[in-house]
Amino acid sequence: MAHDALQRHRVKIEGFIDKTIQSSSASTVKIVQPEALDREVLDRCNRWFVIVTSMFFENEIEHTLLAKNFVKNIDYILYSELKRWNFEIDISGVCQLKCPTCPNGNFTGQGLTKNMMEFEQYRQILDKLIAEVDFFPDVQLYSWGEPLLNPALPDMVNYAVSRGISVGISSNLNDIRHLEKTIQAKPDWFRVSVSGIDDWYSQMHQGGCWKKVANNIDQLSKLRKIYHPEIIVEINYHLYKNNKNDIETVAQICKKNDFLFKVNAAYIDPLDMLIEYAEGQSLPESVAKTAQKLVFDINEVLRYCKTHKSNDCVRENTIVIHSDGTIRQCPHVFGSRYSLDKKIFDLSIQEVADLFMKRDICKRCKNIGLNNFYAHFLSYTDASVK
Ligand code: SF4
Repeated sequence: MAHDALQRHRVKIEGFIDKTIQSSSASTVKIVQPEALDREVLDRCNRWFVIVTSMFFENEIEHTLLAKNFVKNIDYILYSELKRWNFEIDISGVCQLKCPTCPNGNFTGQGLTKNMMEFEQYRQILDKLIAEVDFFPDVQLYSWGEPLLNPALPDMVNYAVSRGISVGISSNLNDIRHLEKTIQAKPDWFRVSVSGIDDWYSQMHQGGCWKKVANNIDQLSKLRKIYHPEIIVEINYHLYKNNKNDIETVAQICKKNDFLFKVNAAYIDPLDMLIEYAEGQSLPESVAKTAQKLVFDINEVLRYCKTHKSNDCVRENTIVIHSDGTIRQCPHVFGSRYSLDKKIFDLSIQEVADLFMKRDICKRCKNIGLNNFYAHFLSYTDASVK
């Protein structure tokens, strides 16, 4: 989404540097490996500078740049310093699937409201953000819910685009009744999450059907060609111990359709459940069983996090607005007790920022190092999946 937002501000993007995303050679977006961060290579361009847009690996990338004698604000800038806040609007509080690694499938406590955001409320939220936030280039129209279930999604995309805001959508793509109109509305970025194919897909995307998704991926590809060839489509592959063999099939689908392909180790949400576990409570039995399917041993990761604590958190500057207008204290929590007492229209963004400074959940999270939990899974790269 940074790509489109920056292009609208007349910044020409030559390509991306990323170690976890693959693109086919025909891709409209050139993606090269981090080794390309070399002055000699870059000096072949007339004028250049690097914009670090990675959320989870900003520090790591900055260290690499500094080690290569790049100078901050001359040779590179951090997108996070341009953009104070990330916004996610969960326009659908509902998902039709019950994935065992997602709170919509595994949460046993008092969770979030399950409703659909209406267009009018969404429009008012977007207007408020545009009025109050200095640099508001993009918005994600999803968090825990399935956005394609909301019939107002095409109008929502259309409205954001008409106000100059780039839109990102992530979907399980099991229900495409509103897909055509959504692509016509021209979102900038569309992610489809999968967890293998056939039976394994239905186990880890519980309630979903791989055959249907594979057909819907074809349909997405056709719609892209007709209505919006510039849209970036990414398939995000959730890797488990037992689904490595399916990677090639999905990689080939991406190649055929000129989609980006990203593999990361699957992990378990929500964070509030993990914090309680790390503080001594037990995991629900079904979640403990799911944990055994992960590539990483969850207890080892928790131990590592606890012994390698840091104060930084890449998720602290994300404001998630739920479908009922409540604001979550962290993108990764699901329990209703971790929402702010007041809704988005009752607070200015500055007041949200003030409340965020005092978040008790962040103190608990950082105390056990869980602010670094997800980076372990997202940075997983296995030579065999390349
Ligand atoms: S510190 Fe933990 S609870 Fe707070 S925003 Fe980061 S991940 Fe969420």
